[in-house]
Amino acid sequence: MSDPNAFTIWPKIEGIDALAELAFNLHWSWNHAADELWEDLDPELWETTQNPWVILRTVSTDKIKSLLAQPEFHKRLDDLLRENRESFSSKAWFQKKHPDAALTSVAYFSMEFMLSEALPIYSGGLGNVAGDQMKAASDLGVPVVGVGLLYGQGYFRQDFDSEGRQRALYPVNDPGQLPIRPLRRPNGEWLRIVIQLPGSKIWLRCWEVSVGRTKLYLLDANDFSNTAAHRGITSQLYGGDAEMRLKQEIILGIGGWRLLRALGLQPEVCHLNEGHAAFAVLERARFYMEDNKRPFDLALNVTRAGNLFTTHTAVAAGFDRFDPELVRKYLSHYAQDELAIPLEDLLALGRQNSGDASEPFNMAYLAVHGSGQVNGVSKLHGRVSQHIFQPLFPRWPEQEVPIGSVTNGIHVPTWDSAAADALWSTACGKKRWHGNRPAEEDIRRLTDAQLWQMRTGGRKTLIGRMRKRYARQLAAEGGSPSEAGGVFDEKVLTLGFARRFATYKRPNLLLHDPERLIRLLSDPHRPVQLLLAGKAHPQDLPGQALIEQWNDFLKRPEIRGRVVFLSDYDMMLAQELVQGIDLWINTPRRPWEACGTSGMKVLVNGGLNLSELDGWWAEAYSPEVGWAIGDGREHGDDPAWDAQEAEALYTLLEQEVIPEFYEQNEKGMPSKWLGLIRESMARLTPEFSAGRAIREYTESHYLPAAAGYHERAAWESKVGASLLQWQEGIARHWNSVRFGNVRIETHDGRHSFRVEIFVGDLKPEDLSVELYADPMQKREPAIETMTVGEARVDSPGAFIYSSEIPATRPAGDYTPRVIPHHTSASVPLEAAQILWQR
Ligand SMILES: *Cc1c(COP(=O)(O)O)cnc(C)c1O
Repeated sequence: MSDPNAFTIWPKIEGIDALAELAFNLHWSWNHAADELWEDLDPELWETTQNPWVILRTVSTDKIKSLLAQPEFHKRLDDLLRENRESFSSKAWFQKKHPDAALTSVAYFSMEFMLSEALPIYSGGLGNVAGDQMKAASDLGVPVVGVGLLYGQGYFRQDFDSEGRQRALYPVNDPGQLPIRPLRRPNGEWLRIVIQLPGSKIWLRCWEVSVGRTKLYLLDANDFSNTAAHRGITSQLYGGDAEMRLKQEIILGIGGWRLLRALGLQPEVCHLNEGHAAFAVLERARFYMEDNKRPFDLALNVTRAGNLFTTHTAVAAGFDRFDPELVRKYLSHYAQDELAIPLEDLLALGRQNSGDASEPFNMAYLAVHGSGQVNGVSKLHGRVSQHIFQPLFPRWPEQEVPIGSVTNGIHVPTWDSAAADALWSTACGKKRWHGNRPAEEDIRRLTDAQLWQMRTGGRKTLIGRMRKRYARQLAAEGGSPSEAGGVFDEKVLTLGFARRFATYKRPNLLLHDPERLIRLLSDPHRPVQLLLAGKAHPQDLPGQALIEQWNDFLKRPEIRGRVVFLSDYDMMLAQELVQGIDLWINTPRRPWEACGTSGMKVLVNGGLNLSELDGWWAEAYSPEVGWAIGDGREHGDDPAWDAQEAEALYTLLEQEVIPEFYEQNEKGMPSKWLGLIRESMARLTPEFSAGRAIREYTESHYLPAAAGYHERAAWESKVGASLLQWQEGIARHWNSVRFGNVRIETHDGRHSFRVEIFVGDLKPEDLSVELYADPMQKREPAIETMTVGEARVDSPGAFIYSSEIPATRPAGDYTPRVIPHHTSASVPLEAAQILWQR
């Protein structure tokens, strides 16, 4: 839509447009074909930033001119640009596999996107999932557009004071230095979106980011037309109070959908990455109202089929909840004037109990009520989410709460080292992440020598980079930077522990018995070294205390040179770590790690995992691929259990991990360890990749969602209208449904059930009568749909439902029940009534 030169005034040099086009697309964050070009422009800046955009904005005109004057440089540039353009417009997996799909656009909403250090608008795991999925969507040609916020300061940056306490820093994100550009209308006007807030309008500036063949659109409030208070709304990610968060979420959801429409996009699918953006479902419905002259209820019924909600938290306390008064302040005019519904109806969408005026407004509940599909982010988290959302489906068995799962994956090309990339290319070819998964057998052919060379090289590179960082850090803390040269040893088993320092992650589990840890680290024959990193939210004091606990431990002289805590864990540091660490440790309290992704990033690089059986590791672990602690059950925050798990962690390290790393064969290679690496790479890397996740989202969620939306919208919303009428009928008349006589007979090894149902003011086709038996060994309950027979002439409104089933279980195990039924509805998501016979 806009011209790359509209915002940035480049010097007039022939060829600079080509450089700008290449630098602007974040494709360079995972495809390194152009790296040498940027390095030629400014080797030093390249080394510190790895950011082509900053290089192009910084280097002198003379330097650019002189390089462009070299035919060799010019040719390389032209070739790279042509390759990019061709690869972005060619048919990819999606176009080949689903050539006739009625899916033109998936809007992917997220509060944060972690795409590159060059665009620091993320905090951690949630942004990681969003960024990696966008990149995989680009590789696979799935038509995803991202929608997010551009933060003036982003998430806080971290350093330590001389006492080892965390300090929060807020450097400014200068838009002129970021790989973003203003979105302009065809007439050149900067696209700005307006939203009415109490008392005044807020103007939102719109920006564009290129991510391979996909686009990310960002909104920010720092527009000169806004009041000073409004201009700060998009300053900080996860900063401020509840009111600030509500304003951000209004901008993201309502502003975000308006932005898409202003661009002429009409996405069939709206994917909510966490509940923050749930207002988008309201705004999507509002546009449907406006386009089709239909009331809100009907519009929501039609568009809901196209909405997908992915929940990311494992505790109900993790949901954003707002005081109803706050929602009233900000959204009463929106409800009344724009949606034409009473505010109470809007509030009801965010509540468990729609009639309870004191119940807070829950964004996750709004997302569930506004979506046609809901999923968690690992198999275990799907089940945990069924438990958390159970209150929205009263009297439904937990296993039937309508929440599935798509396990997260990481975008492999973003996290692999150059050496790992080369090795995988020899084994599985160059296009291995652009289609279906690479074959395990191809990876298993890698030899011990190839794998060990990659590992030792990776460890060495990591240690070199770590020392540089550590020297800078020591100097900043007032220490002596020369000390950094002596820490760590290239031959020593290197453990990594880096993540958000939140108490449920138990970052101090390794510190449970400090003396035992010291013995491990300082063993003269088989020593271990440990690299730590992690931030605690500025308001999370217990989390910060855990950082201090480690920094105190670091002062122990016995472990000098064996443990380093690097400050400011960010994407670039994470990339360095996962490419060189031998063993990645993760010790969350089950089941609070919804998925976890950092451990997946080491797989491609030959790192191994030792983790709690939680999140992704609960489904990935087997003894052939790594190590696990935990018994696969939940123990709350019981200190005795923590102690037991710490014990298990030390024992595993002492008796298995360390001996296997140092047990080297006649060629000087640890064959057992390498066997684990080979299996971990072959089995887990493709499975826990964002490519697999995006294929799964596309085939199991996006395509059905698009089809459901089209079905409901077609013929002037015919199906949507029938659904709405049915839903209203069910809500109004459900209480008139009741059970009559139940007759059960058993002969010839079969139970025969005859159940009399009084359908009251409903019709038999509005209902389904089922026999339900609790699960036996498996998790799946036994459910048998009964067949409706003739109406009973002697008893008006009564129908006989019957069913015959094999008598493998006692007849008493089965309970008849009535649930709503409509061919196009998702039950119980869209109608949660249920009537049990007993
Ligand atoms: C991958 C990543 C995360 C998420 O990792 P977890 O496994 O959820 O701890 C967080 N922060 C950064 C910088 C990352 O790269």
